[in-house]
Amino acid sequence: MSVVVDGFGATEGIGFGPVQVLHWGAPEVPHQTVSTELVDREVERFHAAREWSRQRLNELKAHAEERLGPVEARIFDPQIVMLDDVEIAEGTVRYIRENRLSAPRAFQWRMLELHTMWTRRANAMVLDKLNDLEDLKIRLLTRLLGLPDPTAVVLGADPVILVAANITPSLTVQLDSEQVAGIATDGGTRTSHWAILARSLSIPAVVGLRDITTRVREGQLAILDGRIGRVVLDPNEHDRAVFEERRSQLLEMEEEIVVLAGQESVTRDGQPVVLRANLDLPEEADDAKDHGAEGVGLYRTEFLVVGRAVMPGEEEQYGAYREVAEAFADGSVYIRTFDLGGDKFPMFLHMPAEENPFLGWRAIRVCLDEPQLFRTQLRAILRSSAHGDVHVLLPLINDSTEIQRTRAMLREEEDTLKKAGTAYDSAYKVGIMIETPAAALDAAELAKHADYFSIGTNDLVQYTLAVDRANARLASMYSPFHPAVVHLLRQVAGAARSADIEVSICGELAANPVGTFLLLGLGITSLSVAWPALPEVKHAVRSFSLEEARHAARRALAASSASEVFRALVDGIGNSVDLAAFSGRWNLSPGG
Ligand code: PEP
Ligand code: MG
Repeated sequence: MSVVVDGFGATEGIGFGPVQVLHWGAPEVPHQTVSTELVDREVERFHAAREWSRQRLNELKAHAEERLGPVEARIFDPQIVMLDDVEIAEGTVRYIRENRLSAPRAFQWRMLELHTMWTRRANAMVLDKLNDLEDLKIRLLTRLLGLPDPTAVVLGADPVILVAANITPSLTVQLDSEQVAGIATDGGTRTSHWAILARSLSIPAVVGLRDITTRVREGQLAILDGRIGRVVLDPNEHDRAVFEERRSQLLEMEEEIVVLAGQESVTRDGQPVVLRANLDLPEEADDAKDHGAEGVGLYRTEFLVVGRAVMPGEEEQYGAYREVAEAFADGSVYIRTFDLGGDKFPMFLHMPAEENPFLGWRAIRVCLDEPQLFRTQLRAILRSSAHGDVHVLLPLINDSTEIQRTRAMLREEEDTLKKAGTAYDSAYKVGIMIETPAAALDAAELAKHADYFSIGTNDLVQYTLAVDRANARLASMYSPFHPAVVHLLRQVAGAARSADIEVSICGELAANPVGTFLLLGLGITSLSVAWPALPEVKHAVRSFSLEEARHAARRALAASSASEVFRALVDGIGNSVDLAAFSGRWNLSPGG
């Protein structure tokens, strides 16, 4: 009988193959002390192993840069910086000198201590740091003990589904999609460094499967679906048929992509629908264009800084923003200012340990409190406006003072640029993300201060329903079709219409065909979705009629539960779109 294990999709795509379990971990370290006269030798041994690790990491970085580009290569920077971290280096030397421990034992003790300290702050960015720490620990310990590198993976010719407790960036950079049909891990998050690499390598991945390593057997067949975050072990006939169907759909879709990209994004009854892309990295711009994006509705700039030990300077940011702006010469580009905090934190910002990071120091709150960080970014965005139709987008806005304070900073930074004779376009707009119930309920007031709205349903749903967006256990309660969410969406759309400003949507809901139908029915005709989803969304848009969508939205607004809302929409879609065809890819249910 097949077994379904659900986690979180980290990389798009689906894969099928036998399981290969990756057992890697820190080697056993014997407890060993040394005589006083050998202490200096142990200290030297430790420093030599650090030097060797630095060289190895620089090699891996160069390899990653060659294969993937400079942004991905920087994923190795945190580990290179960790090698010089006083807490790690001096802490280890102290153990050698004061306790006369052998170098590997002293290093192991220190790493254990740091691991325990950092684990207490269990947010996703710290988890990434732990993952980097683990990678570093294994590399240095195996060197000190004279063991072979356990992160060198031996793969056969046929593609496998790699299963591991967790994975490291140095391991991922050695993989390729010909040999690895998918990666499934107990831990990890979508923003884990290795997951970002896997996305660039086009290897489907599912993270956060909790105990998958204890549930699989070597060689067992598995299907992995990176879009819906699911692994099916021992798939039965039906599962395999769904997989084959989905795979051939994807292949056909690839051919259709080219055709669809050139087609108009318009409903059956003639309503144009703006389709833009959500980008995490500037390198995705070309893919987004090939998939038919007419602009960028959300550029998540925080991926320029997560995992970084030092703040990226104005020139580097300007280069990245300019690259995206130039790629979309004919379309608008909405650059979101750093949405840090919650589950994304760079190493250079010392984040306070918080009980509830998602209700804490996050997004615009961090930026307004860190003027140097914010102003550097604002200047870089302004400068990039000289190269395209670039606009500023502010995350997690709750009230108008946050917009006014940002506008004041922008004016000052404009003055700085003018004085320096640096080019920028003063016609840029300042838009806001509507992500909290407060912002949605107060949308009419906020519309007086913002030039456009972009609704972030990923957060809006979690804050409206008090359901953590990343908690697998609550996934069925996380429903964008909950009547409260639908009413808030209508309210925001209405406020934008009255104020005559654009309202678009950049949350995942826009890429779910039932969600697309609802949004069109509510009058939201500007959508931004992850670029791989663009062709399907366009296909759905072209099959819908705006009139039918409006009618179904009216029925959805009168419904009293998420499932009733969902039913009203599915009935409204009728046969215009074959929803069953989406079911392998989408969790087409009122929840999740
Ligand atoms: C959202 O909250 O819907 C959104 C698009 O922002 P992010 O997913 O980056 O929080
Ligand atoms: Mg958000």
